[in-house]
Amino acid sequence: MLPKVGIGRHCCSQSTNLENYRPLVGDALIDEIRALADTLSGLRLCHINSTAAGGGVAELLGRQIPLLHALGLSADWRLIHGDPEFFQVTKGIHNALQGGAYVLSQGAKETFLERNRESARLLDEDYDVTIVHDPQPTAIPHFTRVRKGIWIWRCHIDSSEPHPEVWAFLRPFVQEYDAAVFTMAQFCPADLRVRRVAVIPPAIDPLSTKNMDLPEEICRRALADSGLDLNRPILLQVSRFDPWKDPLGVIRVYRLVKAVMPAVQLALVGSMAGDDPEGWALLDSINEEAVKDPDLFVFTNLTGVGNMEVNAFQRGADLVIQKSLKEGFGLVVSEAFWKAKAVVAGKAGGIPMQFPDGYQEYLVQSVEECAERVVDLLDHPGLRAAFGRAGQERVRQEFLLPRLIRDELALIHELLHRGRADLA
Ligand code: UDP
Repeated sequence: MLPKVGIGRHCCSQSTNLENYRPLVGDALIDEIRALADTLSGLRLCHINSTAAGGGVAELLGRQIPLLHALGLSADWRLIHGDPEFFQVTKGIHNALQGGAYVLSQGAKETFLERNRESARLLDEDYDVTIVHDPQPTAIPHFTRVRKGIWIWRCHIDSSEPHPEVWAFLRPFVQEYDAAVFTMAQFCPADLRVRRVAVIPPAIDPLSTKNMDLPEEICRRALADSGLDLNRPILLQVSRFDPWKDPLGVIRVYRLVKAVMPAVQLALVGSMAGDDPEGWALLDSINEEAVKDPDLFVFTNLTGVGNMEVNAFQRGADLVIQKSLKEGFGLVVSEAFWKAKAVVAGKAGGIPMQFPDGYQEYLVQSVEECAERVVDLLDHPGLRAAFGRAGQERVRQEFLLPRLIRDELALIHELLHRGRADLA
């Protein structure tokens, strides 16, 4: 069981080697990363977030930390531990940063601050650079007694139009940071005053078990073993069970498609994140739909769907859907494109920037539009294949892990350099 409050250390056991990425992203980027890492040699870096599993931040950190180690940098991954009450509050804050309604009561503020204060107290090491992800641990530097090093707030959320009261509460804490990093320039709230705002989109790791090449035979077997019929079209959405990912909307899309293509099947793969208490109720509603329909499949990490299975599902599906209503980035979109799959997705947040030129019409804003585009792509396998290949190339150019590492190291280099210049 996790401690009620605290700050734990999460270990990544995987190892990796930057050279393995050279054939995928080219010499220039790899050499640039090595040069940056050399200038930062001896640096002590720490990432803090709130969950080790489930969701994009955990996915990213699980791959970034080993690569930072491979570069000879010291990088820790530390978790702010909370209890259900804390995560109820932070999920409310998360939703409110995306513009959702949330009443931040005095009690909720106290819960948030108390866990942050306690985590700051338990953060027993000094780092040169600390990167704090998303709202949950935002106030840690505020409560750090002797503040050392550089602090960066890394926001993964579309916070372009945050709920005014919640943002008014959080903003002073964010403004204590040396820099704030957003996925897109538009995500930075207009009234944020912080020394440096940077824009760095996330990325996927092409060498992880989630994204590495898998033989087609293995993918087919994984799908068949899960009960899917390989001779009929398979639609897939992989997402946390979160209302913003609109899994119930995806089921409505599937029903509309099925009315004209009765053979179609839908697989919903969803993980339950440790810091996301909303997922269970939604999973119940989805299961209610699934028990009525033998062509509607629901899989979760609780029933053994891990990274390799997600990889196999993404490769084995005929078409991937990501019908988000709000989205920070949506790693799953890049994951699907990397596997050369066509994607029909919500026109939300960071999703459009992942789309290859010429395929913007597959960004949708309603159930009906989504169903129309799905039918169109299922009807045209040649178009589907070309779209998938274009998506793969876009991801190769822009959204692979080395680019993210380069951007973050460049920012750290700049901030450290500026710190020295300020002292001079
Ligand atoms: N994911 C997973 N299993 C699931 C659902 C999601 O491994 O059942 C992964 C998915 O492959 C992706 C991450 O969780 O790597 C979700 O990141 P994304 O940016 O798409 O969304 P977030 O959950 O961060 O909002």
